[in-house]
Amino acid sequence: MKRRATKIVLFLLLGAIINVAVAWLFALRPWSKVQETARSYVRSTKPRTTVIIATGELYLGQYGGWAWSEAYVLNETPKFVDDAQLSSHFPYWSAFAHGDPLVTQSQSPEGSRLWQYDETAFGWPAYSLFYQSAHGNGPSDRSSTAIALPDSLRQLLARNNFRFEFPRTPIFPGFAINTIFYGAILWLPVAGLGALRRRRRIKRGLCPACAYPLGESDVCTECGKA
Ligand SMILES: [Zn+2]
Repeated sequence: MKRRATKIVLFLLLGAIINVAVAWLFALRPWSKVQETARSYVRSTKPRTTVIIATGELYLGQYGGWAWSEAYVLNETPKFVDDAQLSSHFPYWSAFAHGDPLVTQSQSPEGSRLWQYDETAFGWPAYSLFYQSAHGNGPSDRSSTAIALPDSLRQLLARNNFRFEFPRTPIFPGFAINTIFYGAILWLPVAGLGALRRRRRIKRGLCPACAYPLGESDVCTECGKA
């Protein structure tokens, strides 16, 4: 029983590692690759709000000052939608689900007016990690919950067209769903091999648990397993 619990914890831990690795690979993916699977929606009324839905990635952004949006960075024509259509894409964990962030969080990190706020979530099959960033008027007036990489690593990634902001805030239940999903995928072949081994031992008259030859009794004299 204790061994089984240890096994479950081990597979969940491995599942969590793969879950995070997959989310970070999506965060690394160049914009040009995001573009291939992306659908984007823009609310044209102010503040201008953009939702980009791509495989493994969800972007929500709001812009105060400029008539510019991330959808144009994607070099495609976004679908212009009304408020109700746009808000149907807001997940419950997002600040966007609780009103326009530029209105509800009107202060930038330095206390000036906030002119951009965005959230980006990554992960597959569910979104499991995200970061948010807020920008004020000044060039350094910016805050982000993404993992801060050393400049040299950021430059190296940027030079190779990779992105360099990695999420660390977990999304529930997405994080749990992905962890169980990848844990189960790893566990399946191990469980299959175990079942095969037990069947082969029974056929050869050995204890299925420890492979000690079974005598007349139904209980193994070596390990006590029935
Ligand atoms: Zn045994």
